[in-house]
Order: sequence, then structure tokens, then C-alpha cells
Amino acid sequence: MDYKLVPTVCPYCGCGCSFYLEVLDGELIGTLPNKTGPVNEGKLCVKGWNVHEFVVSPARLTKPLLRQGADLAPVSWDEALDFGASRLKAIQEQYGPDSIAFLTSAKCTNEENYLLQKFARAGVGTNNVDHCARL
Ligand code: SF4
Repeated sequence: MDYKLVPTVCPYCGCGCSFYLEVLDGELIGTLPNKTGPVNEGKLCVKGWNVHEFVVSPARLTKPLLRQGADLAPVSWDEALDFGASRLKAIQEQYGPDSIAFLTSAKCTNEENYLLQKFARAGVGTNNVDHCARL
């Protein structure tokens, strides 16, 4: 048997709790809180305790989906990005840049949040930027 503890940080919210992922024979089997983590000191909320489950969930989205009639169909990343970009451009041209708003997430890194607000302001031309931490 090959048992490993992999240190990492919770991806669910901005608190930054740390824990170890338990890996047995290459399979993710559990989560253990880091007792010396400066943020959580050995504690986790229910989301953190169960964080390993989403990784292998059959319900996890692994590719982009586009609505086609009543259904959502898997498409390539190129197709999804082209569709999103063309719709944003069309809406911007028809209704103006302030008809678009961006909502970012505590699950993103500071760098990703910075890039999104930069894209909103410099790319699209709107200051309509908010963050889930304010909701
Ligand atoms: S364990 Fe809970 S409180 Fe800690 S980072 Fe994850 S979601 Fe946030």
C-alpha cells in the first residue's frame, strides 16, 4: 500500500484553511486538517472536511457546455470561448459597455481577480465589477 498526505489549501473560500489530502494507492480518499495551519489551527468547516469528494464526483463539470435548444451540449474550449467573446462584443456594441457586469470569486487567486477587473475596465470599458465576498 502506498499512502501519502499531500499538503494544500482549501479552494472553497478566501479564508485559506490548510489541510492534507489523503491519497491511498493513487486514489484520493480523505481530508485531514492541518493542526499547525495558522488560519484554521486544526479546524475545518463542513465544506473543507469534504473537499476531496468533488474531485472525483461524476457530477463534476470537466468540459464547457453550450445550450442547444433545451439541452446543454459539451463543446471544445475554443468553441466556448469564441461564443462567449462574440456575445460579449455583440451586447457591448448594441447596448454599451455598462450593460455588462462582471462578478468574480473568492475561489480565484488575487492575480485572477486582478485580471478580471482589468479585462472589465480596459477591455470592455465598464466599472461594473463586483466580488462574491460582498454578497
Ligand atoms: S475549510 Fe471552510 S472556512 Fe476553511 S477555507 Fe475551506 S470553505 Fe473556507
